[in-house]
Amino acid sequence: MSLNPLERFTRSFGFRLNLWYTALFTATALLVFGGFYWITDRLLEAKDREVIAARLNEFATLYQAGGAPAIAQVVSERGSRDGRFFVRLIDSQNDTLFFDAPKEWIKAEVWGRDYFGNLHGVKWLDIPPDDARRIEANLKVASVMFSDGTLLQVGASSQSGELLRRAMRQSFVGIVVPVLLLGFGVGAFLSHRAMHPVRQMVDTVQSIIRTGDLGARVPGDRSDDEFAGLGRLFNHMLDKNQSLIRGMKESLDNVAHDLRTPLTRLRGTAELALQSTTEPDLKTEALADCVEESDRVLSMLKALMDVAEAEAGAMKLDRQPTDLSQLTREVIELYEYVAEERQVKLESHLNGPCVAAVDATRMRQVIANLVDNAIKYTDAGGAVAVTVECNDSATTLRVKDSGMGIPPEEQSRIWDRLYRGDKSRSQKGLGLGLSLVKAVIEAHGGTVRVSSETGKGSEFAVTLPANPG
Ligand code: ADP
Repeated sequence: MSLNPLERFTRSFGFRLNLWYTALFTATALLVFGGFYWITDRLLEAKDREVIAARLNEFATLYQAGGAPAIAQVVSERGSRDGRFFVRLIDSQNDTLFFDAPKEWIKAEVWGRDYFGNLHGVKWLDIPPDDARRIEANLKVASVMFSDGTLLQVGASSQSGELLRRAMRQSFVGIVVPVLLLGFGVGAFLSHRAMHPVRQMVDTVQSIIRTGDLGARVPGDRSDDEFAGLGRLFNHMLDKNQSLIRGMKESLDNVAHDLRTPLTRLRGTAELALQSTTEPDLKTEALADCVEESDRVLSMLKALMDVAEAEAGAMKLDRQPTDLSQLTREVIELYEYVAEERQVKLESHLNGPCVAAVDATRMRQVIANLVDNAIKYTDAGGAVAVTVECNDSATTLRVKDSGMGIPPEEQSRIWDRLYRGDKSRSQKGLGLGLSLVKAVIEAHGGTVRVSSETGKGSEFAVTLPANPG
């Protein structure tokens, strides 16, 4: 599905986020303005009523003192200065005793006596603006009835209030709407910019999917924000994946390569035996060679599977309290003969029992691999020392030799499956011993480290916590 740039933009997360913010801002602005408008409206209304009520009081006092003529006199004295007011006096017979009003009131039908009947207290009437009658302002009338049944009505138009309200409404449309539109535009631009790193990530993933090239990376961003951090993490994850895949590929290549030699030898031996029809001894020897080669292939496959299982966390460990000193003693006994044959001095420092909850079979494999390597990579006349120490928190096993050592650049790679050091090729081996050691120790919650100097020797230290998690 290919979208044009505008569609892409309007469907983007940034655009939708901006839309939400604008809606929220609009609602808030409406609420604030509405509240402000309502309060102003109430205040203006109260002010209008106050003015009309004062005038009503004044005319009521005048009426009680001098009747309709007193009112008429004051109104005519004030003349147009007071033109804003509507004043009407209707007697109990419904005859109008006095009437004075500005022009627009003539068109308004102000309710008279019939409407009020017997009135107690002040009664308010509101006449809304009416375009048909050309009444522009809101008209307000207060009516009061005297004890003789005469009705006094005083009214005024709230023109200035209306003007203020209209100004407020216009300023809302004139200011808030442009501000909203501007805010939306700027917001859309900013959020589009802010989402740039995410789009770069999407592009990177798409390019990896399209081309299959795992080398694609999110372009670097030196800033310190969350997106830049995410981009760096994302690149880091891609680096790890790439090296894992490379490792898997190398392992596969190595397995294929390492299996080819014994299988070719196996095939050659079998072929030779088939061709020689006469010598039964040769056939027996060939069969024995075949068994040996098959064992080599089988042990390599088994070791590979063990390592894979342990690394995947699927290795089943039968953990029992085991004295590691005793276990080491047993392994050393097995290797005494090999060491003697290679003229390597094998000594142990086992300071009393060191009990830890381990899988004894797997631990025996670990110790055997380390001791085997130490003897294997030490020339005649050298020495191998094995130490087991423990305290409340951990048990440490050290295998130290005075052999050829490991060059610094190889030290991090010796734990890789099927890795064999350059100088070690002359010795028998599969390159799986140390990867199994590491996988088994880590499955036990422990660590294994190497310190080594070329030509001087190496020391492998295994640490097992007393209370594995
Ligand atoms: P292998 O011994 O079968 O080659 P390992 O996994 O046991 O495989 O060891 C990997 C590599 O680490 C060896 O090929 C060797 O180069 C190096 N190595 C391991 N132990 C020692 C040691 N004690 N001294 C020197 N090099 C060692």
